[in-house]
Amino acid sequence: MTDLLAPDLLMPGDAEIAAPASRHRTVAVRVGTGRAAVTIGGDAPIGVQSMTNTDTADVASTVKQVADLARAGSEIVRITVDRDEAAAAVPHIKEKLLRMGVETPIVGDFHYIGHKLLADHPACAEALDKYRINPGNVGFKDKKDRQFAAIVEQAIRHGKAVRIGANWGSLDQDLLTTLMDQNAKRARPIEARAVTREAMVRSALLSASMAEEIGLAKDRIILSAKVSAVQDLIEVYRMLARRSDYALHLGLTEAGMGSKGIVASSAAMGILLQEGIGDTIRVSLTPEPGGDRTLEVKVAQELLQTMGFRTFVPLVAACPGCGRTTSTVFQELARDIQTYIRDEMPNWKSKYPGVETLNVAVMGCIVNGPGESKHADIGISLPGTGETPAAPVFIDGQKAMTLRGAGIAGEFKQIVQDYIERRFGS
Ligand code: SF4
Repeated sequence: MTDLLAPDLLMPGDAEIAAPASRHRTVAVRVGTGRAAVTIGGDAPIGVQSMTNTDTADVASTVKQVADLARAGSEIVRITVDRDEAAAAVPHIKEKLLRMGVETPIVGDFHYIGHKLLADHPACAEALDKYRINPGNVGFKDKKDRQFAAIVEQAIRHGKAVRIGANWGSLDQDLLTTLMDQNAKRARPIEARAVTREAMVRSALLSASMAEEIGLAKDRIILSAKVSAVQDLIEVYRMLARRSDYALHLGLTEAGMGSKGIVASSAAMGILLQEGIGDTIRVSLTPEPGGDRTLEVKVAQELLQTMGFRTFVPLVAACPGCGRTTSTVFQELARDIQTYIRDEMPNWKSKYPGVETLNVAVMGCIVNGPGESKHADIGISLPGTGETPAAPVFIDGQKAMTLRGAGIAGEFKQIVQDYIERRFGS
């Protein structure tokens, strides 16, 4: 008989597929204090962060959104600090969050007048856990270096980390012009786009070495160079990783709305993460009007989890459905189970250690249903069109029971809850 597992047919094992060849070595940066402090870079797990879209001067709305993002799993939350009223609100926001038990580190995002706001509002400078500076709009002409230095000095004084975040849309124009001029004089000039990528990388690296010269330790510096085009982002971060060992914050800027933003961010960051590049990620999704801001946290977590880097919530595998599932029962159950697990996770996390490794399968019919359900910890195979109205449930690979009737969803949720209690409860 032919050996179907001949050596040249053997595939790498899961561990080899899941892990990147080697993670780009970076200096670890500690952000925040207390129980919720996080490490970015070094050997730390890849972090998930997010940003609010409330007016920071509106303390109540900002507190609520930071708490929502933290509850959804954001390990760091960034807020805009754009004027005096916002800076004055920061210590109150921090205080209210701490009173609610939310210790998630808060980052202040500064543009143009960060040096002034931090100097005029020492309580804000102290309350924030990290400052984000964009070297492209920290100041103009001769004021640029002075104002950059003033922010870095505040970070040193208050013992805070700094993210130096270059951005394609606000790139340091003096630096870009210099590089473009030099390129034009070359015998064989390179493409303007490549020069812009080089300017992004240099802007971040020059600013970082300037910060170090001022006295900010390397383990207080995180770099980012966000671009809105997928291929540019990949190239810019590869260049950053080749040229430095600063901790890297990864994100595609202006990714867009809905599926476009999710796909573009996942494509760009997925490639870089697989190459071992990136210590913390943010998915910059434009929410639908009135939409849920926490979606960006869920997408970031799902990206890291589906790639095998971290485990956040139990995975629900659901078949896509097809002509064999003409009723909506199957879609409704898949959605209900997913929502139920997401909603319960904040309570389960402390009560049931390890629950995030659970696998649940919700399948639409007999074709792949029983097979896929057996591979999950708990699986249900719903009846397809024309099949007997019965839904076998599989637990740990064995058929455990069959559900029938209108209460299938409720009964299945109870089965999931009982299983979690039994397996992960103390
Ligand atoms: S499991 Fe059944 S319903 Fe789901 S996609 Fe496959 S054939 Fe279609």
